[in-house]
Amino acid sequence: MIRNGTLIDGSGKPSARNDSIVIAGNRIESVGALPGYIHVEDRKTVEVVDAAGKWIMPGLIDAHCHMSYGYPLIKGEGKGKGTTRPEFSTLKSARSAQKVLRAGVTSISVPGGTWFTDVGVRDAIKLGLMAGPRMFVAGRMIVTYGCIEDDEPSWEGTPDHSIGKLCNTADEMVTEVRRQGKHGVNFIKMADSRSGESQMLAKEEIAAVVGEAHRRNLRVAIHSRGAGSTRAAAEAGVDWIVHADLATDRDLEAVAKAGVPILPTATFLAVVVELGQKVGAEQVQLDINRMKRHYDLLGELMHKARKLGIKLLVGTDTGNNAFTRHGELHAKELEIFVRHGGYTPMQAIVAATRDNAVAVGLEGQVGQVAAGQLADIIVLDKDPVADIAVLQDTKNLALVIKDGKIVDLEPRDEMLVFQQAAE
Ligand SMILES: [Zn+2]
Repeated sequence: MIRNGTLIDGSGKPSARNDSIVIAGNRIESVGALPGYIHVEDRKTVEVVDAAGKWIMPGLIDAHCHMSYGYPLIKGEGKGKGTTRPEFSTLKSARSAQKVLRAGVTSISVPGGTWFTDVGVRDAIKLGLMAGPRMFVAGRMIVTYGCIEDDEPSWEGTPDHSIGKLCNTADEMVTEVRRQGKHGVNFIKMADSRSGESQMLAKEEIAAVVGEAHRRNLRVAIHSRGAGSTRAAAEAGVDWIVHADLATDRDLEAVAKAGVPILPTATFLAVVVELGQKVGAEQVQLDINRMKRHYDLLGELMHKARKLGIKLLVGTDTGNNAFTRHGELHAKELEIFVRHGGYTPMQAIVAATRDNAVAVGLEGQVGQVAAGQLADIIVLDKDPVADIAVLQDTKNLALVIKDGKIVDLEPRDEMLVFQQAAE
């Protein structure tokens, strides 16, 4: 039971004084007045957390977090990307998952990875082998020649350790959906051209993937910056669209009409631009001007989407690069929503909790502090509604509860091992 404190319940209702939140097993049993059947003095069956002077809210959900790209790089790791050694990569992913949870992120959506690493880590967490967030995972991204993640020449194709999976016909795509479904993914990730310069996936191909995936109870997400694929994806019925920064107003109207959410993911771009200005474009090895343009467009997109009633999801692209480290950036996107997207802090919190539940396949089940919801809760020493950046500093985290259990935030021995490796 959590007593006292200020409750931000994830529904968008104003913050309010909390009397009691009762958790039984992994669900929230009641919120509000202390139920008569509970005897607070009975410390054998009731564990009481006093949150007086603190703020209580749903655990954060990062709707865009990669776990098996081979990052973070560890000094001494040796040649070759971690992804060429799935066994090593799996252990790294497991470790990263623990850091994510200790940052107050109780659920993540993983739109693409190598092998079936993320499926394995997800299940290890689910079965209690290790601590970690709830994970909702895709496998390798379905791409055609020239799409993002088709980086090798045609005679090499997409090697087994890569993040993309070449499928140049609708039939090949459907077969890949079936293969990934057999190996336990929760959703299918498709990926169009890298920067949206041209449409690489035909509407019929997207529709074929959506049809097969939905028949198998798998969801579908698509990396789509460009106008053509964004409209095609909306009309084909994908479950959410990632980026969409180059979509025209008419395309966004099609997205709104189809009721498809957009996951803009501005954090990665913000980090590149900030870092690039600090250490120089050469060091980050990315086109800063292009990143800045995408970043500005995403700010505009956030305003337009709100006007059109398009639901925006909150994700960061953590784990997609050496400088997007796990456990550090998950709440940055909320600040960007507020500073560039015209959101109030409360609206950003709702987007990153209740609304984000769709990206982990648990809409109505997680993301709110309400009776019947899964018990994923964080307690903070400072008020995130007064300053949304509070969520970015783990020093402000007093408590993380996932699935009704209190998370150990100080894994001393493990940190020691990591610090040694980093020296
Ligand atoms: Zn990504």
